Amino acid sequence: MKLKTLFEAKKPTISFEVFPPKKEYPIETIYDTIEALKDLAPDFISVTYGAGGSTQNHTIEIASRIKNHYKIESIAHLTCIAASRETLTKTIQALKDEGVENILALRGDIPESLKNQHFKPAFPHTADLIQELRKTDHFSIGGAAYPEGHVESQSRVSDIKYLKTKVDHGLDFLITQLFFDNQKFYAFKENLELLDIDVPVIAGIFPVVNLRQVHHVQALTGTRLPAKFQRILDRYQDKPEALREAGIAYAVNQIIDLLSSGIDGIHLYTMNQPRNTLAIMDPISTIRKTLTQG
Ligand code: FAD
Repeated sequence: MKLKTLFEAKKPTISFEVFPPKKEYPIETIYDTIEALKDLAPDFISVTYGAGGSTQNHTIEIASRIKNHYKIESIAHLTCIAASRETLTKTIQALKDEGVENILALRGDIPESLKNQHFKPAFPHTADLIQELRKTDHFSIGGAAYPEGHVESQSRVSDIKYLKTKVDHGLDFLITQLFFDNQKFYAFKENLELLDIDVPVIAGIFPVVNLRQVHHVQALTGTRLPAKFQRILDRYQDKPEALREAGIAYAVNQIIDLLSSGIDGIHLYTMNQPRNTLAIMDPISTIRKTLTQG
C-alpha cells in the first residue's frame, strides 16, 4: 500500500526504522530483528540507505522482504548526492521490480571522499530527486524535515523555505529528524502551517540507551538536549542499565505527549534493537489501541 493512502485512512500511525547490517555481518541478522518487531504490528518499517555505497543493495532486498515475506508495508530510503543518473535509474527500477511502493527521498550527507574534488552531483538537492521520482506514479514519496533546522542550513527561514520547495515538488509526507524537546516540534508544526505545508508529519523518536549514542547523534544532527534530559545523562552516565531505563522512560513520555496532541504518526529509530523497542511499545499499548479505535 502507498503510505499516502495509509495516512489518509489512519492516524496516528506507529512505525519503525531499521538499517542494513554493516558489511562484516551477515544480512540475515536483520531478519531476526524484523521477526521480533513484527509482533508489535507496525504500520510500516523504513530501511535506511548508505549514501556512500556498500549496503545499498541490501536496502532494496530488506525493503522487499519486509513487504513480500513479512507482509508489512515498507519504505526504502534513497539518497541522491553521490548517485549518477544511471545508478539512480537502476535503483528506482529495482525497487519497482520488487513491488516496493514507498521511498523516503533524501540528499544524504556528502561523503568525505567527494568533499575535496570538483564534484558536480547529478542531483544536488532532494528536490531534484523528487522531480526524478515523480516521472512515474508508482511511488508514494516522503522527505526529511528538521524541527531544529538542518545542520548545514544558513537559517531556519531558508531551511523551511527549501522544505516547502521539496513538498511542492511532490512529497506526500514528512518524517522528522530526532528531537528531545516536544515544544520544538510543536513550534515547527506551527511554522509549517503558516507556509501551508499540510502533508502528514511523522515524528522521529530516538530512545537514548547509552552515552555513546548521545554524542554520536548530537554530532550528526546538532540537536539540543533539554535540561531534564541532561540531568538524566549527568546522573546515570556511569550506570548503563539505569541510563537505559531512564532513556526508555523519556522516550515513552515524549511519545505519550505527542500522541495526546493528535500527531499524524510516530516513527521509532529502533537502532536494530528490538528489546528497547518492545520496552517502549509495551507501556503505550492501551493508548495506541484507544487512539486507533477512535
Ligand atoms: P535537502 O532537503 O536537500 O537539504 C539539505 C540542506 O540543503 C539543508 O540545509 C537545506 O536547507 C539545503 N537546501 C535544500 N535545497 C537547497 C537549494 N535548492 N539550494 C541551497 N540549499 C538547499 N542519510 C542517509 O545517508 N541515509 C539514510 O537512510 C538517511 N535517512 C534519514 C531519515 C530521516 C528521517 C532523516 C531526518 C535524515 C536521514 N538521513 C539519511 C540524513 C540526511 O540524508 C541528511 O540529513 C542530509 O544532510 C540532508 O538530507 P535532506 O534530504 O534533508 O536534504
